[in-house]
Amino acid sequence: MKTINGSRYIPFITLSLSEPKQRIWITLSGCNFNCKGCFSGARDTVGVPMTVDGLINWVEKSSRTYKDNIGPLEEAIITGGEPTLDKDFLRDLVLNLKMRVGVKHITLSTNGFLLDREFVNDLKDLGLNEVKLDLKAYNDAIHKWYTGMSNRPVLKAVRNLYNGKLDFRVETVLMPKIVDVAEIEQIASFLALIDPKIKYKVVKFAPGEAREKVTRRPSDVEIQLAVNSASTYLLNVAGGKACVHAATEPRAEGTKKWVRVYPDMKTETIIAKPGGFEVS
Ligand code: SF4
Repeated sequence: MKTINGSRYIPFITLSLSEPKQRIWITLSGCNFNCKGCFSGARDTVGVPMTVDGLINWVEKSSRTYKDNIGPLEEAIITGGEPTLDKDFLRDLVLNLKMRVGVKHITLSTNGFLLDREFVNDLKDLGLNEVKLDLKAYNDAIHKWYTGMSNRPVLKAVRNLYNGKLDFRVETVLMPKIVDVAEIEQIASFLALIDPKIKYKVVKFAPGEAREKVTRRPSDVEIQLAVNSASTYLLNVAGGKACVHAATEPRAEGTKKWVRVYPDMKTETIIAKPGGFEVS
């Protein structure tokens, strides 16, 4: 999917409200994958079309509204949907977040399919600090069945990130009887051939949030087995929940809070609760 007139559809942006360091999640909608277990409402083209300039104005206005409580905007996570669909838009967004807004740390969350060598180098030069790359499966038949696309460009993207010296980590969702420990082991072995220090995380499939409940939620024991298996190849392996930063950190009830800001500046508050989130 390409954008219209240099715009991308954006449903909302999300700001952290409970940390000394202010973070923002920028959700760009639309995706080139069709994952059966997709948990993102932004896979479809939802929201309103926005240019980078319009988006940056919205980010600055939203950030200013909460600045007194939580300090200046320090970190941005660009997510989706799939943020790489329009390369020029993403290049421009990274540059503007860095130079105009002054964001110190920018993370891109991506399925990696479009991360060719030139694009990786461009993003690094423009100020991108980190990439979280989802590698859904090593077996291409499983990958095609699950996403509708080959994993070959994604495997190449791992090498591009490594060769481009852009900080990155790889995540895989453990899906019992689909992407099992044997798949995790293959991925870990592939990553270790590049560098055993590559950061790798195994996360739980969450059927409650998935479009198709293709399998069940793995147990903590299964996650640990997968982590142990990957750790025989890699030095930095973790297991946990699938979310960049926020939900991966320990939280007590009510202590983590975010505000979701819509294009018309209407807001929703999200509070972490055991087993989920309360939206008001
Ligand atoms: S890559 Fe992400 S957003 Fe796209 S379909 Fe897969 S899970 Fe959904």
